[in-house]
Amino acid sequence: MFFVLLERLRQGYNTSKYPKIEPILSPRFSGVPKITGSCDLTCKACIDVCPTEAIAKKEQSIAIDLGKCIFCDQCVPLCTHNNIQFTHEYRLASHQRSTLLVTKEVEKIGFQLNQQIQKLFKRSLQLRLVSAGGCNACEADLNVLGTPVYDLNRFGISFTASPRHADGIIITGPVTLNMKQALMDTYDALPSPKIVIASGTCAISGGLFQKSDEVCNGVDSLLPVDLYIPGCPPHPYTALNGLLQFLGRV
Ligand code: SF4
Ligand code: SF4
Repeated sequence: MFFVLLERLRQGYNTSKYPKIEPILSPRFSGVPKITGSCDLTCKACIDVCPTEAIAKKEQSIAIDLGKCIFCDQCVPLCTHNNIQFTHEYRLASHQRSTLLVTKEVEKIGFQLNQQIQKLFKRSLQLRLVSAGGCNACEADLNVLGTPVYDLNRFGISFTASPRHADGIIITGPVTLNMKQALMDTYDALPSPKIVIASGTCAISGGLFQKSDEVCNGVDSLLPVDLYIPGCPPHPYTALNGLLQFLGRV
């Protein structure tokens, strides 16, 4: 015990100062893409290489759907016009699926506050996590929010074991057919009003599994989603920022 206390003293206070101070992210982190210049799409190299069909032609340029993008960066070096760059902007979450479409004009993901959600959950939000068939990386990065660095509990947000005690569910994975009934049962067990959060590309659109007959291609096809958190997996700061924006705390 003595050595445990000694080690804690040596480590000191590790909780990040976010949201008062902006986080420092790894230089390898890919956030909101920036699309520059025009393109007549005669080469289509970016569209062909994209594993999740996240890129499409939009007017005289391209658009990237962050609900489908897995941030693999494969499209970046293939563009001979250097039209695609991924910035370090980690604020990717949105309340509306359509705002996840990034075009030449979009530099920031839009977010509209919901007064009723703020009124009900601003000070306290209990979430039940449902892992609906993903690779487990999304769950791992949500678990990271409970560590001393992020300390999710200081914002009054925590994960609860029972859906009966939850205000909402946060879902990861593409919703496999095997998990569909369990997800619906969990949703039904939640008292109203309840919120639904889709975390990760799989939960938003099916991601890499979207063409499989064994998945429901995300939560949207089954439940009304209140918050989308893109990423594969979403960075813990992306998830934390999304939750805080949702509650009107940042
Ligand atoms: S970074 Fe996104 S848009 Fe580009 S190839 Fe990968 S999945 Fe597709
Ligand atoms: S979004 Fe990516 S990290 Fe999350 S479950 Fe799907 S494949 Fe895994």
